[in-house]
Amino acid sequence: MLELEILGSNATAPTREGPASCYLLHTETGVVLVDAGPGSLLAYCSRYELDRLRGIVVTHMHADHSLDLMAWAYRWTFPEVLPRIPLFVPEGETDRLAAFDAVFGIPTLPTMNRPITQSFETRELPRDGTTVHEVDGVGFRSFAAHHSVPSAALRFEGPDGRTVAFSSDTGYRAPVVEAAREADVFVCEATYLEADEQALHGHGHLTARMAGALAAEAGARHLVLTHFADPADWEEGHGHAKEAFDGQVSVAVPGTAFVP
Ligand SMILES: [Zn+2]
Repeated sequence: MLELEILGSNATAPTREGPASCYLLHTETGVVLVDAGPGSLLAYCSRYELDRLRGIVVTHMHADHSLDLMAWAYRWTFPEVLPRIPLFVPEGETDRLAAFDAVFGIPTLPTMNRPITQSFETRELPRDGTTVHEVDGVGFRSFAAHHSVPSAALRFEGPDGRTVAFSSDTGYRAPVVEAAREADVFVCEATYLEADEQALHGHGHLTARMAGALAAEAGARHLVLTHFADPADWEEGHGHAKEAFDGQVSVAVPGTAFVP
């Protein structure tokens, strides 16, 4: 079993619609958090017990995808210390986690000297498209997305062969198409309705129309649009994506679930 639940889908920051980027993958035995954007801990705790969480995978270390890691780490080490769980980040980003610990570690509380290190077994994602990692019995691979920091598109494959892919934040790149190849559910960023060259190809984002084209090129089955700059664009973005993609298109509205 592999089921996707949207906890939060906003770019940049939480809004009244919900948290910034955070998704749950439900497995046979627990849940995996994909991205830990602001609001993810609160949204999770309002629905599930902490001991169901089996691991966290962060697509890239921008704050709207990772800022709550420290909130999670504080909760993981206080008032009681919970068993460490795996935390996956793109290759080369463990230094940034160490910096996070340096800023927010509490020297006078032994279990919280380095909260991230004390909460998580950190593993790096090579973004080579081939190395298979495993979390809670689900295999996944990471692919080189194009963004201003190392960004990992992800492809999870459940025990029954069903696949859920995530674009991460990215411009239009071949490895992201590979991550989404014939995916049953493809969660793809659609930051803008329209944007200039620098935003799309320099910094690295997609328009909703480009998300549709990418899903079509990949032969994905169900496209789930996420990471809109403004939730007011949901409906129009949905329409743009449908112009480029014949398959099913949905918007990653917080609280909704998708079975691949
Ligand atoms: Zn980003």
